[in-house]
This record gives sequence, C-alpha cells and structure tokens, in this order.
Amino acid sequence: MPSSGFDPLKWWLSGREGVDEAQDRDIERSCGSKDGYPSETAARANAAMNGMSSVLFTYECPYCRGWHLTRRKPPAMGAGG
Ligand SMILES: [Zn+2]
Repeated sequence: MPSSGFDPLKWWLSGREGVDEAQDRDIERSCGSKDGYPSETAARANAAMNGMSSVLFTYECPYCRGWHLTRRKPPAMGAGG
C-alpha cells in the first residue's frame, strides 16, 4: 500500500534534520552539564581563565536563558568587538 499522502511538515523536518541536530546536541550538553552563566561577561571570564577565550564563543541560551560557551562560532550578530 502506498502512503496515504504527502506530508509537507514531515518533508520539511527531514530537510532541516542534521542542521539543528549538532547545535541542539551542543546546547543540550551545555545545559545538561551545568547552569548557564548569568551574563556574557561571566562566560567570557570563565573562558579566559581556562585560556580558551580565543577558541570559545559565548551565546545566550534560549532554553535556560543563561550564557554558554561553544567552540562553534555563532551566527554573526554585528561587527566590531
Ligand atoms: Zn542553556
């Protein structure tokens, strides 16, 4: 029996699968291992203390509303800095 119909939502989800997966895993690990930092300054300070300020980026977590560190550069949010 062929499937009863084309599901556009399923198709769309299958297309974006993998794109968000890596970031979701990153966020999940960050949120799961520890609470987010209360501010970007705190997150950056922690990275600096570990000598990782040049390889870690900070981002505001949409899940816990805290700040996390990531090795992946987040989407550009403006020039300068
Ligand atoms: Zn989080």
